[in-house]
Amino acid sequence: MGLVLSLASICVYCGSSNLVAEPFKVSTRVIATELAQRGVRVVYGGGHVGLMGILADAALEAGGKVVGIIPEHIRAQEVQHNGLTELIVVPNMHTRKRMMVERADAFIILPGGFGTLDEAFEILTWKKLKLHNKPVFLFNERGYWNELIALVDKTIVEGFAQPSDRTLFQIADSVENLFALLDERSVSEGGSLTGRM
Ligand code: AMP
Repeated sequence: MGLVLSLASICVYCGSSNLVAEPFKVSTRVIATELAQRGVRVVYGGGHVGLMGILADAALEAGGKVVGIIPEHIRAQEVQHNGLTELIVVPNMHTRKRMMVERADAFIILPGGFGTLDEAFEILTWKKLKLHNKPVFLFNERGYWNELIALVDKTIVEGFAQPSDRTLFQIADSVENLFALLDERSVSEGGSLTGRM
């Protein structure tokens, strides 16, 4: 079964570092290829470095559509990708993050660093605050996010978050598992931004 049409665009958050182990690169390539082959438009940060670059290249090579959203001041730092279906240059980071959310029907969080963590928690806190109700998938490649998941559990155990917050995202530990979860989700999960961000 393919993806439901409601997940026409998926925003992928991932690392910008080139120094990461090969398996992270391989799975990023596989996920991007699979999304493109399923006709899903990929929305991402617009750079040509690290997993971000691998993601965009693989989706484009597989015939997919890729939309990059990059702030003016980091175009050079993240080596803006010049072969995208659409490259949107925005004035600042906040506009980028907001536009990435608006343009996507769901979010996949791949392994990444500080920027990815920031994006992951922004999308989760916005969901918690009911600014959107779109599916969020954490790709826990080789247990990369184990400590993060444990920390989320701790926030709940210690009373800083509610047990229901654990349902704000789903964890996939393999590419097969990720696409099985994507296939399960439907249009009813979606929702537009309320303009309160
Ligand atoms: P990283 O995971 O640190 O390699 O960054 C991945 C992407 O997140 C890059 O495109 C960063 O520009 C972006 N990003 C988003 N928000 C932030 C932030 N607050 N600090 C740093 N990077 C960020």
